[in-house]
Amino acid sequence: MKLDVKAHSVVLLVDDQLMVVEGIRRMLMDEEDIEFHFCTDPNQALKKVVDVRPTVILQDLIMPDIDGYALVDTYRQNEEVKNIPVIVLSSKDDPQDKSLAFERGANDYLVKLPDKIELIARIKAHSKSYLAQVQRDEAFDALRELQAELEKSNVELQKLSSLDGLTGIANRRSFDDFINTECLRSAREDTPLSLLLVDIDFFKPYNDNYGHLAGDACLRQVATAMREVVHRPADMVARYGGEEFGIVLPNTDTEGAEKLAIKLMEKIRSLKIPHEFSSVTDHITLSIGITNGVACEGASPSDLILQADEALYEAKESGRNCYKIHSSG
Ligand code: GH3
Ligand code: MG
Ligand code: MG
Repeated sequence: MKLDVKAHSVVLLVDDQLMVVEGIRRMLMDEEDIEFHFCTDPNQALKKVVDVRPTVILQDLIMPDIDGYALVDTYRQNEEVKNIPVIVLSSKDDPQDKSLAFERGANDYLVKLPDKIELIARIKAHSKSYLAQVQRDEAFDALRELQAELEKSNVELQKLSSLDGLTGIANRRSFDDFINTECLRSAREDTPLSLLLVDIDFFKPYNDNYGHLAGDACLRQVATAMREVVHRPADMVARYGGEEFGIVLPNTDTEGAEKLAIKLMEKIRSLKIPHEFSSVTDHITLSIGITNGVACEGASPSDLILQADEALYEAKESGRNCYKIHSSG
């Protein structure tokens, strides 16, 4: 709820007797910073409160059909007006009545017709504290909204900082985090962990001949293909750097990693990305190095990367467009 924060008091008198209305009106008429409203029909009281949005309600207790306290209850049950202070205007100056009034949710108690100075002072005091409360609530709401927005942008930022800008797959940073975590898990749970390093063959001549933009497009196609082939939720495909990609396969043995390498090479072959400057075929091909660490044997992330890199080198040496498995894998 957004209230205009008024600098002055807005009084709503709910009283069926016009004489009382007139009396109070006269007391307040010289006060420039008090706006006066009244309602003589108790059945219309809640509607009037919602419409006028007073900063203080002066509430008569005895009215035809409705008890004043029943009305206070209806105000308190209404989300929009429930905190508006209510000063009960009673004809009785009895401590028991006063005590009952506070019990029933009144904020103050005055005997009719009250003293003018006292009435004005109380109206102003209650209004002031009510407006301060409204302002504080609004400030809290705004703060909460701001916090929610901040959290949202933090999530976005986090996402951006973990993804590679060109291909949209995980970047080197998240690859490093991921392989670290998975190595620890593999050690803890005694499960195998496979790593594939994937490198595009003759990518330099591709770039040099087709241009950097075509090179970028090719990297995106390869990344998309990898994402399609590697589809277990626990797996990760990342751009390791340049035209090199890393695939981490938790809980996967060498055989599983090999199958995936074959699938990936087939997928790239099926894309038929022309590369007439490649010495292996006239299409884009990949070389892949595979390793598998059974972490209980103490393989660390850097061991795995080194091994996969050695296997990749071997694949390049063997003529490219193939995969090699590291001898320990
Ligand atoms: P090899 O078959 O032995 O892998 O040879 P290569 O030419 O693929 O490998 P090399 O490491 O010599 O060249 C990698 C090239 O990848 C260099 C650069 O032109 C290209 N490259 C690296 N990052 C990007 C990139 O973000 N965009 C584009 N378009 N090209 C990139
Ligand atoms: Mg290459
Ligand atoms: Mg390379």
